[in-house]
Amino acid sequence: MKFKVNDSCISCGMCAGSCPEVFHMADSGMAEAIPDDVAPEVEESAIDAMNNCPAGAIEEA
Ligand code: SF4
Repeated sequence: MKFKVNDSCISCGMCAGSCPEVFHMADSGMAEAIPDDVAPEVEESAIDAMNNCPAGAIEEA
């Protein structure tokens, strides 16, 4: 399972805070997801971050 962040990101930082294994804040100020498949043990936390993103900016890639 892979994730990506689209242009709707409002830079709130929540995903990077709740699932730092997958998301980080890029120099642009917007969040970025790791390009690789996420490890099975962090999948649930990444899905939670996707579902809780206030901008709906996280998608399955
Ligand atoms: S939770 Fe959503 S809006 Fe907030 S930084 Fe992550 S992708 Fe951007």
